[in-house]
Amino acid sequence: MHFQRVKGFQDIYGEQVAYYRQACAIAKELFTLFHVEELNTPILEKSEIFNRSIGENTDIVEKEMFSFLDRDGSTLCLRPEGTAGALRAYIDNGCPKELERLYYLGAMFRRENPQKGRFRQFTQIGVEFIGSSSPFTDAEVISLFDNFFNKVGLSKIAHLEINSVGCADCRRKYYEKLTAYLTPFREELCGDCTRRLLKNPLRVFDCKNPKCANIINGAPLILDNLCDMCEKQFEEVKKYLEIFKVDYTLNPRMVRGLDYYTRTAFEMTTDRLGAASALGGGGRYDKLISILGGPDISGVGFAIGLDRVIALMMEENFAIEKRVPDIYIITFPDTFEQGAALLAEVRKAGFYAIMEYEISGVKAQMKRANRSKARYAAILGEDELKENKISLKDMQTSTQQIINLTQLFNFLRSN
Ligand code: AMP
Repeated sequence: MHFQRVKGFQDIYGEQVAYYRQACAIAKELFTLFHVEELNTPILEKSEIFNRSIGENTDIVEKEMFSFLDRDGSTLCLRPEGTAGALRAYIDNGCPKELERLYYLGAMFRRENPQKGRFRQFTQIGVEFIGSSSPFTDAEVISLFDNFFNKVGLSKIAHLEINSVGCADCRRKYYEKLTAYLTPFREELCGDCTRRLLKNPLRVFDCKNPKCANIINGAPLILDNLCDMCEKQFEEVKKYLEIFKVDYTLNPRMVRGLDYYTRTAFEMTTDRLGAASALGGGGRYDKLISILGGPDISGVGFAIGLDRVIALMMEENFAIEKRVPDIYIITFPDTFEQGAALLAEVRKAGFYAIMEYEISGVKAQMKRANRSKARYAAILGEDELKENKISLKDMQTSTQQIINLTQLFNFLRSN
């Protein structure tokens, strides 16, 4: 019997693990610098929070949710993204702070067609700044987002794009223009776009169908149809991005795949992952918190697709900090048990130590010590042990010296 992974799901194993660890460490370090606290929410949520927030006519809600009917009749799902759950938690916990800055890190689930960079379970790192409508926060969030891509070594192959998708007011007027433009092409548009045209016209900009692309290329743009307030807000965001020294390009066709965004939208893209071009994205949500039953306050956030970031870090040979063993304990048949006692002691003192599970030849142990890249091999000869001494071999210089066992920790600490 040979069991395999479920289609679209992946194991994070071997070399990949170190990259995940490093990328998470980089993100967490940045979160400290930007004063962002951790939040953990359940993987399972009521489907309704996503239907309401992401939008009924989005690809995620229409086609991609892993949802099921629970025994009590409620419809539950594996979370397809983190924002709705984070805000649900903020509201559920009584909106503890007027201004809240949170991050989450975890698995998300979407039943998409698996391909390069596209999985059915993937990991997102996300951030939500809740409670401020100031454009300063939009720029601060984008600066944090941008900083992450610099620190994981992807600034040359990842490009930051920004846009404004307006508020409900400017969108209402804009939808009239967009619908008027698209309607004559109704017969030529794909089935999805024909439906979008009736229910949620902005979503046509998500269409990947080449037949639709030509038509959509000529469509009026939300950026040219912003109301005065949205235009002013966007100008301010751009001003602060300049102050924070964040480079970006304006992409008036980028609308993000989730309905809850208002005004600022941004995305980090690359041409290195085929069709899966987005490494992360985010934006402002002015109505989402009240849609989910909270107060009428707004927020801004992003989510980064860690799996895609890691794939590129590996391709780019990003240098991973790897801790090597401080000491590899080498024993003889008569000193095996003393070696085991020393192993426990050195670990207790905070050193990274290795010893073999079974008695074996010194030559073979030395070979494996070399392979482990340990700094020192500690050879426990019977004669030396009698005098409470130990022979230490520096694995880089191959020099060997005998030291008192009582000095071992000091020696390791100072060398
Ligand atoms: P979204 O929540 O759709 O804005 O996605 C944010 C980021 O998550 C994207 O930019 C991708 O990097 C990543 N992502 C989204 N869907 C997938 C997927 N199916 N597989 C891997 N990464 C994904």
